[in-house]
Amino acid sequence: MDAPHSPNAISDFAANLHIGNSLSRKKERFEPLNAPYVGMYVCGPTVYSNVHLGNVRTFLTFDVVFRYLLHLGYKVRYVRNITDVGHLTGDSDDGEDKIGKKARLENLEPMEVVQRYTNDFHDVMRMFNILPPSIEPTATGHIVEQIDMISKIIENGYGYEANGSVYFDVRKFAETHDYGALSGRRIDELQNQTRALDGQDEKRDPIDFALWKKADDSHLMQWPSPWSVGFPGWHLECSVMSTKYLGQSFDIHGGGMDLKFPHHECEIAQNMGAHGQADPVRYWIHGNMLTVNGRKMSKSEGNGFTPDELITGNHKLLEKGYSPMTVRFFMLQGHYAGTLDFSNPALQAAEKGLERLMSAWRLLEDLKPVSSDSAQEAAPDVEDIQKRAYAAMNDDFNTPMLIAVLYDAVKVVNSVASGRMAIDMEGIQSLQSLFERFAKDILGLQHEDTQAAGDDRTDGLMAVICALRAEAKTNKDWATADLIRDRLAELGVNIKDGKDGASWTFD
Ligand code: AMP
Ligand code: ZN
Repeated sequence: MDAPHSPNAISDFAANLHIGNSLSRKKERFEPLNAPYVGMYVCGPTVYSNVHLGNVRTFLTFDVVFRYLLHLGYKVRYVRNITDVGHLTGDSDDGEDKIGKKARLENLEPMEVVQRYTNDFHDVMRMFNILPPSIEPTATGHIVEQIDMISKIIENGYGYEANGSVYFDVRKFAETHDYGALSGRRIDELQNQTRALDGQDEKRDPIDFALWKKADDSHLMQWPSPWSVGFPGWHLECSVMSTKYLGQSFDIHGGGMDLKFPHHECEIAQNMGAHGQADPVRYWIHGNMLTVNGRKMSKSEGNGFTPDELITGNHKLLEKGYSPMTVRFFMLQGHYAGTLDFSNPALQAAEKGLERLMSAWRLLEDLKPVSSDSAQEAAPDVEDIQKRAYAAMNDDFNTPMLIAVLYDAVKVVNSVASGRMAIDMEGIQSLQSLFERFAKDILGLQHEDTQAAGDDRTDGLMAVICALRAEAKTNKDWATADLIRDRLAELGVNIKDGKDGASWTFD
């Protein structure tokens, strides 16, 4: 997989990067703790089932953040964990372990479940051109460190043992800390919402959360500890692994919006409770949800389809199959902090939009300079377009704005290809570098050989024909423009005019 070209020095553009920090709820200028190094931790998947497209959206969001930071010249250590123990059904402290449950139902070893779905996750990440992180640690690989962190929390007076389990004392912590700062939840409000569930009577307060749980015999994964043979609480692994690999205070922590509470709120409490460090995370980034008809895509809703179903179109919600790059592009057309609703018309529009971008990029490979003698106008300054592209990314990774800027470059390419716009070789090279940087390295878009998109040569031919037709229209030669459209239609190629140029589909 192509990693973005990473320069040796930090780009001047880095000085203007602003990140929407979900802790301060403000856009803040990005200043790493130890430039040129940047530490980023993102909560990874719980590997008990196939990932669905909602999960892909979150990992894509952080892929673009990772790619952009690399592009700016930062040396990024990107840690994305694999949750292979401790995540209980209902995200609660009393359910069954999600992986243990799957192992029980399918008569497998828990580690067999973990391996199967970790492999699937990696396949899906590759399919969508999502780069691997620098470190991908597992919760089960860090039991010793988790026990150690619990001991520190108890020593500092924020944890207590009850019947072999250990809980975090939220009220005690809140006496001196702002518990709820990230999620905006208030303790009293939480207390009203939290029912005392079975088994929770060992907690001093229902809002406390588990750091360690004593396991009963039916629990498949268990380890010895000073308190009992048991297993760690779900939130603990991320506190432990982020501290181990990035330090007690680090730059960026990400995850899906649904993890803000309780998972991330509890992580902050654990880190502060163990290390006494104020602000363990400098910038919190939360990716918003992929929805279907306004409802969060999830396994339990039955509206979550897998990438395989997406490609084959083999799901009741899909009118046809869509390529991974189409989906990547569709997701990038929305800003990560807003919800994005999946629909067939939106995917079909993304398919056409992507094709317009990619065919201009292909045209660019062999584009020849056009002299100002024959052209009607001069090409705009490409450096200007590039500045706007950086400004878009610097504005909290605004990929939709970046795509709009790239479409301006597409117009230039098409006008040059039709001979209408003058450009020299230097201008063409600047355009090529613009696409390399922004479409390939930062947005992670790749050419695909799919049936729907046609092969390279067909696409190249189509781009030339469309450029000629655009030229005819510019010259008000409607007869030629219509003739081209009609003759193509006879061949089963449908041309559609849009405000940014023509696109085509094959019958
Ligand atoms: P899980 O495997 O459930 O721990 O989820 C892995 C990641 O996917 C987490 O960061 C979740 O926030 C994220 N996620 C789950 N559902 C969606 C969705 N519908 N849209 C976007 N992200 C999601
Ligand atoms: Zn986490």
